[in-house]
Amino acid sequence: MHEKCGVVGVSLEDRDAARPLYYSLYALQHRGQESAGIVTHDGFQQHSHVEMGLVGDAFEQSDLEQLNGSQGIGHVRYPTAGSVNACCAQPFSVSFKSGSLGLSHNGNLVNADEVGDQLADLGHAFTSDGDTEVIAHDLARNLLEEDLVRAVKRTMSRIHGSYSLTIMHDDTVLGVRDPEGNRPLCIGELEDGYVLASESAAIDTLDGELIRDVRPGELVVLHADGTGYDTYQLVQPENTAHCFFEHVYFARPDSVIDEQLVYEVRRDLGRALWDESGIDSDVVMPVPDSGRAFASGYAEAANEDADADGVEFAEGLMKNRYVGRTFIMPTQDERERAVRLKLNPIKSTVEGKTVTLIDDSIVRGTTSNQLVELLYDAGAEEVHVRIGAPPIVAPCYMGIDMASREELIAADQSVADIRDEIGADSLAYLSIDAIAGALSKSKADLCLGCVTGEYPYDIDGEAKDREVDRPAIGTAASADD
Ligand code: AMP
Repeated sequence: MHEKCGVVGVSLEDRDAARPLYYSLYALQHRGQESAGIVTHDGFQQHSHVEMGLVGDAFEQSDLEQLNGSQGIGHVRYPTAGSVNACCAQPFSVSFKSGSLGLSHNGNLVNADEVGDQLADLGHAFTSDGDTEVIAHDLARNLLEEDLVRAVKRTMSRIHGSYSLTIMHDDTVLGVRDPEGNRPLCIGELEDGYVLASESAAIDTLDGELIRDVRPGELVVLHADGTGYDTYQLVQPENTAHCFFEHVYFARPDSVIDEQLVYEVRRDLGRALWDESGIDSDVVMPVPDSGRAFASGYAEAANEDADADGVEFAEGLMKNRYVGRTFIMPTQDERERAVRLKLNPIKSTVEGKTVTLIDDSIVRGTTSNQLVELLYDAGAEEVHVRIGAPPIVAPCYMGIDMASREELIAADQSVADIRDEIGADSLAYLSIDAIAGALSKSKADLCLGCVTGEYPYDIDGEAKDREVDRPAIGTAASADD
């Protein structure tokens, strides 16, 4: 199960947590549109409301009113193609002998089946096939024997993979980030409490201050009276495995991850793209909205380059904001139709011009393929495509619903083949080194599985790689290749 989600948790002094949680989920809506949920605790009992759909549709005023209590957690869940599944909506909640638990999970465990089987042998009954329920049961079991911190530590030693969690044990809200720090999680301060969230944009929405990222392997326990928090470094990681794709595509540009504003990282990647594979053209235009920051960095670097002719930055493609993400479309035909519905060129910015089209990534190739054709139809003389990430050659097992190997255009094709398939005059991707450079991280501290095919986790049938030197993959094809 690939769960690419948003999580949040708040503990306030004496205000109800439901509204701040609801606003935070709105801020994290880009991380998941399939379902939304909130669980609160009023000091005596848990209250829960979990629904399929967008945050705005999932909650009525009356739902928020019944979510009593100053402590709570929330979740938005990413849709996985074809499996709209109400049983996996979160937060997951469970009552057991020594209290109640609520869990919100972003990430994906690699040994959930194994741990689940062991728990089932011990008599635990599961209501879903989700790995979040496995974590909840393991933790509930440990809590019967140990205090909260030790129980979490024991669960962390059993589960492997990617998890940023917000947990509610009775009225105590916790945040946990896996030892590799694969998915983001940060902590912020409000006027009257504390908040844990997948992204700092959620903290901004509540007029709070970002304190810092939760460290890989760290547990943060918010005081139940909203006045502070304690932290425990439960596992000391040797290497991290931060997902670079968070910075490239998934996170909001206005979020700060690892002390770097995502927007600036994307602009730096755009600048690096110019340095690595810049090509003179009349206009540079982004695929909205995913390519915007990359294109602005690229155009800026082009215009600073004394050896280049100078370029016009144009918003040459208009986006219809009412069309959902193309990824949700189950068939290729519908995906192609959706791109056409979603984007339309502004003819005057394109006609008779050489155009460089910039996006963050190519997954199946649908978007680039359609847009190159659209730009030619609108009168472009040449279309060059520049991509702010390396070729995606392998699936993501760690939470991004990225498509299977068979669907990935770069899984078994050279850059020249892909250029031909999308019909561009030239195509270039960004190198892995440029990604590591912009993130100021060693490659050994990043999860690069989708661009190397080698994963920092044990995944059945896949290669494991924890070495610093990763193989170089070709990233560019000009018209003459
Ligand atoms: P494709 O059209 O299949 O090549 O997908 C590439 C487009 O989808 C780009 O515009 C990306 O910004 C966007 N994209 C990349 N990864 C994802 C993802 N996991 N979910 C939804 N959209 C994505």
